[in-house]
Amino acid sequence: MKFTFVTLFKNIMQGYFTDSILKRAIDKKLLNVNYLNPRDFTNNKHQKVDDTAVGGGAGMVMNPQPLFSTLDFLKKEDKDVHIVFLTPVAKQFTQNDAKRLAKKSHIAFVSGRYEGIDERVIENYADEVFSIGDYILTGGELASLVICDSVSRNLSDVLGNADSLRVESFETELLEAPSFSKPKDFKNNLVPSEYLKGNHSRIRSLKLVLSECKTKFFRPELFLKYNCTKVVDFLPKKTKH
Ligand code: SAM
Repeated sequence: MKFTFVTLFKNIMQGYFTDSILKRAIDKKLLNVNYLNPRDFTNNKHQKVDDTAVGGGAGMVMNPQPLFSTLDFLKKEDKDVHIVFLTPVAKQFTQNDAKRLAKKSHIAFVSGRYEGIDERVIENYADEVFSIGDYILTGGELASLVICDSVSRNLSDVLGNADSLRVESFETELLEAPSFSKPKDFKNNLVPSEYLKGNHSRIRSLKLVLSECKTKFFRPELFLKYNCTKVVDFLPKKTKH
């Protein structure tokens, strides 16, 4: 799968791919990462990419011309590229989006800076827009990396053990149960004894209870959804008369 990052600051992104799982995926040719800098596509002598906001307002806005030219170039190179803009003014990215996007062949992430991107760019080129949460970052680069990372681990062979995906939080409405490593007693902090007895069906039941407790405490709105699906499961199935 190919990722193209449209960014003014590729240096702050590159390090993420120099170690661990994503580096291995690049080495195994499962991932291909590229960068395009809108500054290289400017028509003006000083390679200026931003200007004051029309109609007033604080800060600078990214001009349409460099981004139109960058994205035209990108689409000419690959007409199937899926263009994603990062903006706080969008639906929040979820695990379901990560799985869906993992089926694309090429995703381009467009990162805003300053007060953001001229809306006409988004209107003309966005296949999708995503926020990564209800807070403001200085730029879209971190948000692009977050989404790229989460999409990548859903590609086959990127993770060493594909089973990790099956039992993770958000696969159902429940958060994952707590995990423990060795030793079973660390400075008088014990692993739950049921985890040590080797009875896998009892361990599964305990993990379900712990998952439910965690979800209820940390994410009551997810717990509510989980309870609703449980109720629907108990309802008698519709029979034909
Ligand atoms: N003025 C904008 C607003 O209030 O909605 C915020 C602009 S922000 C300082 C600059 C850039 O960071 C945005 O164009 C976007 O690309 C990125 N960004 C900031 N917060 C983000 C978030 N929560 N999710 C995704 N991208 C974000």
